[in-house]
Amino acid sequence: MPTSVPALVAASAGARFERTTIDRRDVGEHDVRIDIAFAGICHSDIHQAREEWGAAIFPMVPGHEIAGTVVEVGAGVTRHRVGDRVGIGCFVDSCRTCENCEAGEEQFCLKGNVATYNGRDYSGDETYGGYSTGIVADENYVLSIPDGIPLDAAAPLLCAGITTYSPLKHWGAGPGTKVAVVGMGGLGHMGVKIAAALGAEVTVLSQTLSKRDDGLRLGATDYFATSDPDTFPANARRFDLILSTVSADLDIDAYLSMLTRNGSMVFVGLPENRQSLSVFSLVGGRRSLAGSNIGGIRETQEMLDFCAAHGLGADVEVVTADGVNEAYERVVASDVRYRFVIDTSTIAG
Ligand code: NAP
Ligand code: ZN
Ligand code: ZN
Repeated sequence: MPTSVPALVAASAGARFERTTIDRRDVGEHDVRIDIAFAGICHSDIHQAREEWGAAIFPMVPGHEIAGTVVEVGAGVTRHRVGDRVGIGCFVDSCRTCENCEAGEEQFCLKGNVATYNGRDYSGDETYGGYSTGIVADENYVLSIPDGIPLDAAAPLLCAGITTYSPLKHWGAGPGTKVAVVGMGGLGHMGVKIAAALGAEVTVLSQTLSKRDDGLRLGATDYFATSDPDTFPANARRFDLILSTVSADLDIDAYLSMLTRNGSMVFVGLPENRQSLSVFSLVGGRRSLAGSNIGGIRETQEMLDFCAAHGLGADVEVVTADGVNEAYERVVASDVRYRFVIDTSTIAG
């Protein structure tokens, strides 16, 4: 018998969130049942709930930054126990046999992984995410949250944390490297914290200087406004890595001009529109333009352990179920410091 749990649902693209109940499957041999405590609001939730990335599946229960506690385990579960603090990120299953899954990069599963929401599992059933009070998932796609990180501050690490940690590691951010983070939102503020903890010299490139004090508090040593055209020549050929967390159109040539020889600009933010650039901007310094997508399960656990070791969590503003529609508007208006997190105990109403 499936278990019915309270959830917040969008009935159609752009619809307001309403309280409802959804069914969660029985706990299978390798499943765990989690009482969700907090679910982060990622800008990707908004893109999908508003169908900004193309057709989505409705009714939709978003949420792929999930933190909670294990309340039931299947007979074959070895990774988690009842009472453990755990999290779920952007996917809940993958084929486990393709070369990318075998490399621990399940985010690039060749069969297509099972998205935590706005997806279908391999039997065809729609998946529902973390804007609810409970979820059942395979133990191999459930992360352990170290004791040092409060659950509300931990939830955003499951997407914003790993999405910035993975490219920072891949492109070698560390002592002696200069990293610029574009956009001080949910992803960006974690990018600043993690890059600084890795030992890089961190600069924030934000639309305005309004969040400068926060950027410096989080570990940046420099902070520039991209609305000021002088920012680009002032930082010419300076950065080894520019990480863009922005979902709006960017003047890519202007950003590439700030890369050193061999420098890389990496997109994690996902603009709706096609972007363009002059190839001259790349060849002039043997520069690279790249993208990165969340991270695999092994690296997500590594990121959580890294954050605990460095005392990092997200800066969160906790909202109730009634506040989610307004929180969406504030995220779109760049009015978030720096991640809204839903207290899911308020969903039952
Ligand atoms: P967010 O909290 O809204 O942050 C985005 C930031 O971008 C804003 O805070 C703002 O920072 C800046 N920005 C907004 N509008 C802008 C504009 N018109 N021009 C320039 N900068 C602008 O969003 P998020 O949750 O961090 O997500 C950011 C993007 O990453 C979204 O597209 C999301 O879908 C995507 N994403 C990708 C992955 C992945 O794996 N690749 C994972 C998660 C999310 P300032 O005010 O400081 O300028
Ligand atoms: Zn996300
Ligand atoms: Zn696979």
